[in-house]
Amino acid sequence: MGLYSSVQSTHAVRRTKPCLICRPAKRLDAIQLIEGCAKLQAAARHLGMGDSPTLDIEHFPQSWLAGAPYIDRGTQSCSLTKDIQMIKARGYATKHSFSGLKPFDFEREEAGAKEVEIEVLFCGVCHSDIHQARNEWHNTVYPSVPGHEVVGRVTKVGQAVSLHHVGDLVGVGCMIDSCRQCQPCKSGEENYCEGPNSWLATYNGPMVPASMAPEGVNSYGRSNTFGGYSNVLVVKEDFVLKIPKALKPEVAAPILCAGVTTYSAMKQFKVTAGQKVGIVGFGGLGNMAAKIAKALGAEVIVFTSTPEKVEEAKKLGFHAVVENDKEALKKLKSSFDFILSTVPQKHDINPFILLLKRDCTIVVCGALEPMASVNNMELAAHRKRVTGSLIGSIADTQEILDFCAKHAIGPDVELINIEDINSAYDKIESGDVRFRYVIDMSSINKGSSH
Ligand SMILES: [Zn+2]
Ligand SMILES: [Zn+2]
Repeated sequence: MGLYSSVQSTHAVRRTKPCLICRPAKRLDAIQLIEGCAKLQAAARHLGMGDSPTLDIEHFPQSWLAGAPYIDRGTQSCSLTKDIQMIKARGYATKHSFSGLKPFDFEREEAGAKEVEIEVLFCGVCHSDIHQARNEWHNTVYPSVPGHEVVGRVTKVGQAVSLHHVGDLVGVGCMIDSCRQCQPCKSGEENYCEGPNSWLATYNGPMVPASMAPEGVNSYGRSNTFGGYSNVLVVKEDFVLKIPKALKPEVAAPILCAGVTTYSAMKQFKVTAGQKVGIVGFGGLGNMAAKIAKALGAEVIVFTSTPEKVEEAKKLGFHAVVENDKEALKKLKSSFDFILSTVPQKHDINPFILLLKRDCTIVVCGALEPMASVNNMELAAHRKRVTGSLIGSIADTQEILDFCAKHAIGPDVELINIEDINSAYDKIESGDVRFRYVIDMSSINKGSSH
């Protein structure tokens, strides 16, 4: 369909959107509020609220609320609406856990004052995309447009954007917003946001949906988000990363999830030069983790269940061991300073706990589900630690992008067209993948909608 020949082809339609005050959320994003309610703008500024990230309606002076004719103080609803421009978007979506992804046409709201519009060039294929599309975490909101390893070019900026410019090469990872008020958010760890809806994921909506949030709060005003398997994204400027010039855009894409997820765990547990580091699993996350650990100066040993991957790891300059090689594991007992498990499903970490030195830690960052039980005798006897880690903050993401550029490292990627996404999923599921698949999004303009 020629209609979608370019992102810039603003086949815009206007939609009427209710003022945010009409929504059940009592905690509002000041920027959205100000955009949504022009009449409230001056008052919010006057009250010094214009620059704070969020507002509580409860904190509005009653006299001021009383003076706002469009607010019904009983229900805190109003009749004010705002016309917003919608932009046409094309993505790949699935509407059921059992069906494959197909072309999907939808609309996004045009960039607001602090948002940027991004033409998607590349999007990495993460194992989470499969878990989510197939509802394996039992929380999928359909239709599901996955994709959270996005690299693209800025095509438009809102009038208050200062961090990015039209033409910049930028990235979007797992998050596109957070509550900005809780302790983790204030200390720059949005990925552990403790706000009522936690962080807003690039796809599948808030991490804590309204149905599970206190008082049913929906602080982001939406229950689903559509990710990077699409030709265009609109994202708040401070959740948009800068892609260093030294990185190829398609190589940068997987760093936005696989890279930062592994880096963040290593940073937290202070992996440094001279340490012995184990990486369990050698898929997308493991490949990235091994390279980062090596660039940090550590001695890296990769553990894989696939004998052929031992050879591949060796080719890339890593020591590698087949997980069920009991003799090899015995020789490595109590010798590791840090182990990172990147296996994306439930697995047994007891054999790896044995490999840790006293007081050392194994972090599970791949699997997000109940795990096989651990032998606490081994943990207690040597004060070893088992913990988890979830993606990484925006600051960590920028840090690892810059680190990869500086050390000239990146994931091994294989480009695919979007129409091959379903077979790519099957190959990833079978463990038969050597590299990170990255979708060349120019392929989305081909084919017709279903
Ligand atoms: Zn991911
Ligand atoms: Zn927060």
